Order: sequence, then structure tokens, then C-alpha cells
Amino acid sequence: MRFVPGLLLAAGVMAGAQSIDQRFEKLMKEILLIDLHVDTLPYVVDEGYDVGVEHDYYEADIPRLRKGRLGGVFFGLMAAPERFAPHLWVPRTLGLIDAVHEMCRQYPKDLEVASTADDIRRIHSQGRIAALLSVEGGHQIQDDLRILRNYYRLGVRYLTLTHFKTNNWADAATDTAVHNGLTEFGREVVREMNRLGMMVDISHVSDKAFYDVMEASRAPAIASHSSVRSICNTPRNMTDDMIRALAGRGGVVFVNFNAAYLDQKAWETHRDTKAQRDREIADMMATHGNDPKRFELRRAIQRRYQKMLPPVDYKMALRHIDHIAKLAGPDHAGIGSDFDGISGMAPQGLEDVSKFPVLVRGLLELGYSDGDIRKIMGENLIRVMKQAEQVGREMSR
Ligand SMILES: [Zn+2]
Repeated sequence: MRFVPGLLLAAGVMAGAQSIDQRFEKLMKEILLIDLHVDTLPYVVDEGYDVGVEHDYYEADIPRLRKGRLGGVFFGLMAAPERFAPHLWVPRTLGLIDAVHEMCRQYPKDLEVASTADDIRRIHSQGRIAALLSVEGGHQIQDDLRILRNYYRLGVRYLTLTHFKTNNWADAATDTAVHNGLTEFGREVVREMNRLGMMVDISHVSDKAFYDVMEASRAPAIASHSSVRSICNTPRNMTDDMIRALAGRGGVVFVNFNAAYLDQKAWETHRDTKAQRDREIADMMATHGNDPKRFELRRAIQRRYQKMLPPVDYKMALRHIDHIAKLAGPDHAGIGSDFDGISGMAPQGLEDVSKFPVLVRGLLELGYSDGDIRKIMGENLIRVMKQAEQVGREMSR
């Protein structure tokens, strides 16, 4: 499908089409917006960050989710192996899972935990925001399918097979490959996720592990927060061939807004300065013990490094979405911002969750139909989640 401005204009005039402003107003009244990956929960648990009030730092809280008209958010729950010893992975994950449920209990007029695609729709139609749980890192199941099943029972609806580090059964994109993709147990994890109806997330895994998932999974997989490698060449992004393979099996790529994954120059700057930044943060945290100021100091360091990046604006996020939609079809693109997991490296004009409407307007301006915009901004998740639920029902019979 090629965008031809003249033709589109002519067709619009003949159909008595509404202006972009009119279509935008109408769409924003009822569109279901879903973000596949928001990392705010560690701040809630570690810093007492109150999602009920609006902040001028970090990237998500209820007032800003409301401004952004979000209908559903997947909270990424991670126990980074760089930060937590193995015996803490499960307790840390359980603490974060509890925090999502408690947050929903504290703010029932705004949030409710959703366990199914139908839940998301119901909660959205009641004017509230569906909160969903996802575990970011296969290491957090401790190589034990019983733990995986218990996460499902507590509401976890996707598992990212690795985080930044390779684990005992899957290679990560940003670490040494030791398994040549997925091990036999890794395939078993994927099959058990299929049987449970839990979505398989391939963000963070190595290219070979990705192709192994394509073979092993009976349900369409997702990339919950990855962008396009042919635009920004980082191992965290997907090649065009991977995007086509995922889409060919019904999956969806949810675009990550990290400026360093959107723009090549920003990636190169981030790549060359990240180790230094992380050392500065680690040193500062070590010398500040339990000082409540340490989180503010960490943000100051992150801001200083963020300013070293070349300017990247929200149109770059649209470019990645547009690339996936042109390459694989509008059924296979979505949003997985990674807000609160990107160390403040958000693009200009897309600084936090309140800015989602600029994407709707941007897609209208790029010539997308209302129906395709609905798919990209949320309906594709509903479809792929329902497919995972269906496969789960079939395999459990
Ligand atoms: Zn991540």
C-alpha cells in the first residue's frame, strides 16, 4: 500500500471526508490505547513513588495516563540479575506483582487488574485503565515451570524470555550466546506458556533464539518493546526479516520509544557512554546508602547523559511504526513505550505517557485510516492476546 497524497485528497473530497482535526477528535473519544511495556513498578516498590499523583519526573502515573487517554498498560516486572542475586529473583518478582495488585486496590476508580483481552475492553468501557502484568526475564522462573504457572495464576500475561543477560535456557541479544538460541528446556517453557495462554515475548532475545521461538510457539509471539534495526542498528531492534517472520505467524512488534533505539546517532552515543554512566550511578548509590536523595541524584546523572544524545523527536517513533506497517501490514505494529525503563531517554514531544495522542494525530497525518490507527494503538494487542488465550484453551483440552 503506497501513500499517494493527491489521490487520497481527491478521494476524501469526493466522500465529503472529515478533516484530520475532526477525525482526531472523534477517534480520541473512544479509541482503545494500550502500551505493552511500562517499567514504573520498581519506583513504586523502592522509592514509594505514588502513581496517584502527577509528577514532574519519571514517565508514568495515573494523572498522566489519563491525559494520554490510555486504556491498558502492561507493567514490566523485572529482577535484573546485575542487581539481584539469584535467590532474590522470585521474591523480587512477587513483590512487584503484589505492588500492581495493591496499586489497583488503592485506586479502584482508575485501575483494575486485567487477566484477559475481554477484561481490557470491559475496564476501558467503564472509563478506567486496565493494568496488566508481565515478567521481564526468563531467569525469574528459576528454571522451574511450577514458578511460571504460579506467575500466570497471579495474573502475569506475558514473559519476556530473557532480559539483558543470557539465562540458563535462552540467549539474550545483548550478551554472549551460549545455547545457540533456545535450549530444549527453553522450548518447553514456550510450550507451557502456550498451554497457559501466556504470550511469548521475544524482545531482548538473540536473533537465533527469536527464530527458535518462531518454530516452537503454537501461538503468535510478540515483541513487547523493540524497534526497527534497518532504521537504528542495535541488537535490541528487529531486522526486517524477523519482523516479516513474526508477522507471518500473526505476531506484533510493539515499538520502543527509547531515543537510543530509534535513532542511529543516539544509539552510538548511548552505546559509547552507557558504561561510564552506569559506573557513576553505582558509585553514587554506594556512597549514599539509604539517603532518600539518592534517587533524585540518579535522575540528575541520567539527565546529564541524556543531554549528550543528539535531538530525537516523536516523529522518529512514528517512522518505526510506519516502517513495520508498510513492511508487514498495519495488523503487526503496536506501541511498547518502555517508559520508566529508558533512563529518561524519551524523544522530544513524547516525553511521557500523557503524549500518546500525538501518535494518533501523527498516524492520521501519515494517511492511515481510522481502522488501521485503532489496530496499531491497541486492537492488535487484543487480537494477539485472544489468539494466545484460544491456543491455551485448545492445548488444555
Ligand atoms: Zn526491556
